[in-house]
Amino acid sequence: MARPSIVTKALTQAIFRIAVVSICAGAISYFYNRSAIDESVREQLLLTTEQKLQRESLPFVEIRDLEHNFLREFERRRAEPGADDALAADFDRFFVRRDDGSYVQRPGIFEGEPLADGRRFPQMSATYAPDTPPDRDVKARFALAFLLSEKYGSALGDRVFNFYGVVPEKGFPIHQSVDISKVFTYSGPDKLDLDDYEFYTRGFTATEDATIFTKIYYDYSNRSWMTTIATPGGRAADGRWTILASVDMPLFDLMQRTAEPTLHGSYSTIFTRDAEGTLVFDAAHTAAITGSAGQASIRSLGLADRYPVLTAALTTTGGVAIVTTADEIVAVGHIPGTPWALAIHYPKALMAPAILRNLMIVVLLGLATLVVEVFLLRSILQDQVARPLARLVRAAQSLGRGGGRFDRATLPPPSGDEIGTLAEAFADMTRRVDDAREQLEDRVRARTEDLEAINLRLVQLSTTDPLTGLANRRQLDVSMEAAWTAARSDGRPFALAMIDVDWFKLYNDGYGHQAGDACLGTVAARLRGAVPKGHLVARYGGEEFAVLMPDTDADAARRLCEALARSVGTPAIPHEGSPLGRVTISIGAVACGAGDCRGVDALLRAADAALYDAKAAGRDRIRVATPAADAAAA
Ligand code: GH3
Ligand code: MG
Ligand code: MG
Repeated sequence: MARPSIVTKALTQAIFRIAVVSICAGAISYFYNRSAIDESVREQLLLTTEQKLQRESLPFVEIRDLEHNFLREFERRRAEPGADDALAADFDRFFVRRDDGSYVQRPGIFEGEPLADGRRFPQMSATYAPDTPPDRDVKARFALAFLLSEKYGSALGDRVFNFYGVVPEKGFPIHQSVDISKVFTYSGPDKLDLDDYEFYTRGFTATEDATIFTKIYYDYSNRSWMTTIATPGGRAADGRWTILASVDMPLFDLMQRTAEPTLHGSYSTIFTRDAEGTLVFDAAHTAAITGSAGQASIRSLGLADRYPVLTAALTTTGGVAIVTTADEIVAVGHIPGTPWALAIHYPKALMAPAILRNLMIVVLLGLATLVVEVFLLRSILQDQVARPLARLVRAAQSLGRGGGRFDRATLPPPSGDEIGTLAEAFADMTRRVDDAREQLEDRVRARTEDLEAINLRLVQLSTTDPLTGLANRRQLDVSMEAAWTAARSDGRPFALAMIDVDWFKLYNDGYGHQAGDACLGTVAARLRGAVPKGHLVARYGGEEFAVLMPDTDADAARRLCEALARSVGTPAIPHEGSPLGRVTISIGAVACGAGDCRGVDALLRAADAALYDAKAAGRDRIRVATPAADAAAA
């Protein structure tokens, strides 16, 4: 497997690092956002719930105040001197006794027909049960309750459904804001039995004059959920209540407002602050509330996740409590002037999109950073590290292979960074390596030339005669052998001449040995100057020379021998010991054609013999023999 490159390693590490940073940033952002959003939801819930509690309490506070005013006026009027007599007389004016002992208002009163004294009581209806025959006190109270119910009921208009001041003897005068002309009776199938009414039983058995709210009930004539709000008053000497100010309050508007979410995605519930948490409004449990005639409660429905909300509602005296359940953040508070608690429920799931959106932004930012960094890092590493390094590696490999001067163009271009410094150092090194190699090559070449010169000299020394500079006897033997072999193979003729200086002993005797040496040098130089190229002049020994003439027949040999003799004689070298007065030579030559030579030794003998003849003939002579002629002579 190939080793990972620097770029791959750096990028892998960069990806890893950025991924870790992104994940950490995502996690931090997730938790930070979650708590921030959670916090803001709680703040909004608190504020909204506080406002809503204040707003919803207003009509109930007003009703409670009206009932208190009703009761105070009731007590004040009764305390006026002679009031009871006048009110008892009014009783007889307003009501008529029926056969069963009950009383109802005179006909036409509800419709607004005036009494004999001109007073009108429109929208009023009254019933008195036959259970307790009215005495003066009862009559006065019932008549006053009738008068004040009409006064306060008409003052409230249609903001409430009914206003009525009930007396405990089951006297029931009522102002109806809506014209339903309901006539209550104490007989027949629609018989009014106040003992069945929660407001009546709870109102008159209350120990304090606190305002009570009945359980909610659905009123079909009004098509609305209602509650009856009642406050007892006129406490008698025995402690009993003598009057109960009551209002039937439609909850339609309240429920409609409650059904609308106050915060986007939230919903609200209203329940009574009792041990059960009796539901007043809960859109999710309307059927249960209806089916139980308003008895359904948080406990009876087993809404376990609401228990903490109920507990908070019971323990909170003022203000708003925030309760966190498994799925919801709930703000709960008491609606002032009512026995109810209002809860605004915010499902936690609503926060998820915002949290996820923030998380997504962080993750996307992380990814964008990753892509940009990887891109930048990759191009930086490729351009500034990997490519220059690859060039350096190739340069080092080519330097290692050797062969010629190093091509510095293969190095990375100057960059000024560490790789640039490395490349410069490398270039310096290659220069030194190249210089060293060239110096070495120069030295080797010089040594080789020296050796060759020495060698040549040695060869020359072994083949040259030191006095005359001519080829020596050994060279002559080698050359003769080669010439004879060549003549035999290609059939060309060649000739050999033997030369001897005449009377040379006398020259030495006359001029001295050193002059003899110089004379031999002069003769040698003249002989060499007289032969054409390709001919070899050698010193045979003493004052004797030999000339090897390749490609030369007998005639040519004679002519060349004559030229040799002329060259030695001209200009004349004085020789007083010679009869001729000058240095002369005798020449014995032999020429052989193809096939008629019997070897080098025979040739030498023949040349020697010819020389002997020349000497014998008187010196300064030339004798040319041919082997064929020799053979014929023999
Ligand atoms: P001829 O004409 O019969 O050849 O008479 P010659 O004196 O030349 O012959 P001889 O053989 O009697 O003498 C040869 C002389 O050559 C003897 C020797 O002193 C002389 N000689 C031989 N080699 C050298 C040399 O290298 N230097 C000098 N100076 N003399 C030499
Ligand atoms: Mg001799
Ligand atoms: Mg001689």
